Amino acid sequence: MLEPVGGCKSCGRRIYCRDGFFDGVKQDGEIYCFSCVESMDEKDVKE
Ligand SMILES: [Zn+2]
Repeated sequence: MLEPVGGCKSCGRRIYCRDGFFDGVKQDGEIYCFSCVESMDEKDVKE
């Protein structure tokens, strides 16, 4: 089952919920895809 949850706040890519597994990351109330979160983790090192 594939449910669209929303778009990545950063790149706009659509993020789905696969069989109840959220295919992205929720951060500060926004949704991001994994690749954006990874690049953010590298650059943005604010606690
Ligand atoms: Zn993204």
